[in-house]
Amino acid sequence: MKCKVCKKPAVINLRAQNRGLCASCFDAYILDRVERTIKRFAMFTRKEKVLVAVSGGKDSLALWDILIRLGYDAVGLFVDVDIREGDYSCRSLDVVEAFARDRNLDLMVERLKDWWGRSIEEIGRRVLCPTCGMAKRYLTNRVAVDRGFNVLCTGHNLDDEVAVLFSNILNWQVGYLARQAPLLEAWHPKLSKKAKPLVLLTEKETALYMVLRGIGYMKDSCPHARGATTLFYKRLLNQVEWRSPGTKQRFYTLFIRHKVLFQDKEERGSLRECERCGQPTWERLCAFCRMMEGGYGDTGREVSEGDQVSEG
Ligand SMILES: [Zn+2]
Ligand SMILES: [Zn+2]
Repeated sequence: MKCKVCKKPAVINLRAQNRGLCASCFDAYILDRVERTIKRFAMFTRKEKVLVAVSGGKDSLALWDILIRLGYDAVGLFVDVDIREGDYSCRSLDVVEAFARDRNLDLMVERLKDWWGRSIEEIGRRVLCPTCGMAKRYLTNRVAVDRGFNVLCTGHNLDDEVAVLFSNILNWQVGYLARQAPLLEAWHPKLSKKAKPLVLLTEKETALYMVLRGIGYMKDSCPHARGATTLFYKRLLNQVEWRSPGTKQRFYTLFIRHKVLFQDKEERGSLRECERCGQPTWERLCAFCRMMEGGYGDTGREVSEGDQVSEG
C-alpha cells in the first residue's frame, strides 16, 4: 500500500478515511487533526496556560508532545498515587520524568500521600479504582485552579470516549451523557475548564505516533485496574468498525451534535461548597476531603468532575 499523499510506502491504513499514509504524512496528519480538534471545540489558544495530566501511558505523553510541537504553553502534571504493587507508580513517574528531562519541559508532581497521609493501597481493594480516579480528578483540577492554569487537558482518545458513550447509553445514564464532552467549561470558581484534544484520534493512531516518535511509555496498565468491561466494549466497537469503517467517529461526533437532547439533570442549585476546600459537593465535605479526614465513605456521588466512568 502506498501513501495517498506522496506515494511512498504507507505505514498505516486509515480505513475510516480510506487512505494509507507514510510515516511523515501520518505525523503531519496527527498534528493537523489535534490542531483542528482544539479549534473546532474552541478548547484553548496559544496565549493560555495549559496543564496536561500525564500518567506515563501513551495517550497522555502523546498529547503533551503534540501540544508542545504545536507551540502551546503546556506544563505536565503527574499525580503520584503511590501504587507499590509492581512498583507501578515509581516506574510511571520515571517514564514521565525522562520524557520531560529530554525535552526540557516543566513537570509538576503531586503526591497523594502528602494529602491523605497514607497510601491508596491501604484503602481496600473494592473501592481502590474509583477512589484513585476521584483523587486524580480532584488533584489535577485543584492544581489547575490554584496555580492559575486556563485549562486542564487529558489524553482521552476516541476509543475511550466511544466506549464510555456506549456504556452510558446501554445504562441510559442521562446525567453522564449530559456531561460527556470534548470540552467542559468551568462552571464553578473551584472547577477548571477541561479539554480532551485527542478525542478524534484512535488508540491505534496514538500508539503508532508514539512508536514513530520513538517515545518510551508505560505499556502495562495499573495492576489494580478493573477495566474489563471497558476493554470488552472497545473490542466490540472495533468489530463494528471493522465491518463498517468510520462508525466510531460517527457515533461520537453525531452524539456531540445532538447533545442538546441530554439536558443536565443534576440539580446544581442544591449543591453546597465543601467546608474544607470549597469544591461543589452534596455533602458537608467533598469526597476527597472526607478521605483526608480518614473516612472510607463511598465515592459514588462525586461532582468535582463530570467525567466519572472513563479511565484516563
Ligand atoms: Zn506520504
Ligand atoms: Zn473538599
